[in-house]
Amino acid sequence: MYLEIVTTRPPATDLGFLLGKHPERCQSRELSFGKAHVFYPQADEERCAAGLFLEIDAVALSRSHNSSYADSFQLGHYVNDRPYAASSFLSTAIAKTFGSALNGTCKERPELAEAALPLEVTLSALSAAGGEEMIRRFFEPLGYVVDLETQLLDEQFPRWGASPYFKLRLRHTLPLKQLLRHLYVLIPALDNNKHYFINKDEVEKLLEKGRHWLPGHPAVELITRRFLKHRRSLAGQALERLAAADGQAEEAQPEREEEELEEKISLHQLRHQTVVEELKAAGAQSVLDLGCGSGKLLRLLLQHGQFARITGLDVSYRALEIAKRRLNWDTMSPRLRERLHLLHGALTYRDKRLEGHDAAVAVEVIEHLDEARLGAFERVVFEYARPRTVILTTPNAEYNALFETLSAGTFRHRDHRFEWTRAEFRAWGEGVAARRGYRVRFAPIGPEDERHGAPSQMAVFY
Ligand code: SAH
Repeated sequence: MYLEIVTTRPPATDLGFLLGKHPERCQSRELSFGKAHVFYPQADEERCAAGLFLEIDAVALSRSHNSSYADSFQLGHYVNDRPYAASSFLSTAIAKTFGSALNGTCKERPELAEAALPLEVTLSALSAAGGEEMIRRFFEPLGYVVDLETQLLDEQFPRWGASPYFKLRLRHTLPLKQLLRHLYVLIPALDNNKHYFINKDEVEKLLEKGRHWLPGHPAVELITRRFLKHRRSLAGQALERLAAADGQAEEAQPEREEEELEEKISLHQLRHQTVVEELKAAGAQSVLDLGCGSGKLLRLLLQHGQFARITGLDVSYRALEIAKRRLNWDTMSPRLRERLHLLHGALTYRDKRLEGHDAAVAVEVIEHLDEARLGAFERVVFEYARPRTVILTTPNAEYNALFETLSAGTFRHRDHRFEWTRAEFRAWGEGVAARRGYRVRFAPIGPEDERHGAPSQMAVFY
């Protein structure tokens, strides 16, 4: 198994400082499953390439108790892809040989650890459950340019066809520590096989290496589940902690208080999922997310290729900044970034940029507007922007009686200007539809209580 990391920023030999390995020396290290060798095929001012060659001892592996080959057929103990394919062994080798670079420390030149460098990575063979699509899905949202070459099963017998392995080349400009953390997590998540027993330690490793970037990744759940080999309880724990790590810096976020209150039923996710289903059913390709907040719905929309143009608008500049960060805007691949637009603007003023979309969504937004401004909102959305489909959600005030921690007569969030009963929402929605030439239907969101209805309510105008 061979991994090569190249930089072309002069003096390129700085890579030696960063990796803590001198370019003029070849160094080897014993690992429990084989040997790792680090050397530099090239070390010039303009271009420096560092190679990590991993020798895996398949026989030693087969003897290890934790080996997943322990229960496979005999020959498989000795003849398998582990010595050649990138897998969790490589992650372990990266941690053992490039530990300080992975942690982002560089004793001699600390500023280098933070510097974004043009980097190119080559992996000799990568197997991925889900193939090319999965590899792109994991790396492209992080901003990598991905080149894949399929490998023949045997070069002497081309008619045997392609092997399940790819030669992978990644290019990106970013700090080396980030690159190593991405590889550390994504390679084992792509690989089908894991040589070691998965336990709580793996959750810690995932959090440590993934906490800065994984929460904002559109495939965070899939990556987490696959890294933890589909051990459900561990994946659940990891996802919860990743979400918490993500929220820490965002205490002032408008949605938080409301979400905490509603947490038990994870209502917010349900709203977003319901909205996505409605948008799909409506056949929308261009979607406006009005009052997009920190971009949770945007992230979900990006996962569905159907939505070719996604535009988020919010009046809060800070919310947009958080959205950008959580969506990894700065390092997002050109393909994804092309689909996404973020606009700073208010929903109560006519805005030409909102015209020409198939659908508009405002999830838990109208209750943040002064009731007196609802008329302006109505005109902006239904008269000027005028998409074929408009989906609005808002709390159902009747349900508040069931929130133990909410005292009577108060709203779920201090910025709410009103909260409507089902009848109030219906009366307003039917009025809008009649005035603006739309039809409308209403649906509950969340578990329905016989007397108080569901916690949230949705109107779909079409
Ligand atoms: N739709 C998001 C956020 C809901 S919170 C979600 O589902 O998670 C309400 C959002 O509406 C906040 O981000 C707030 O900044 C935004 N907002 C409030 N008044 C607005 C206005 N007049 N114009 C645009 N956005 C507004």
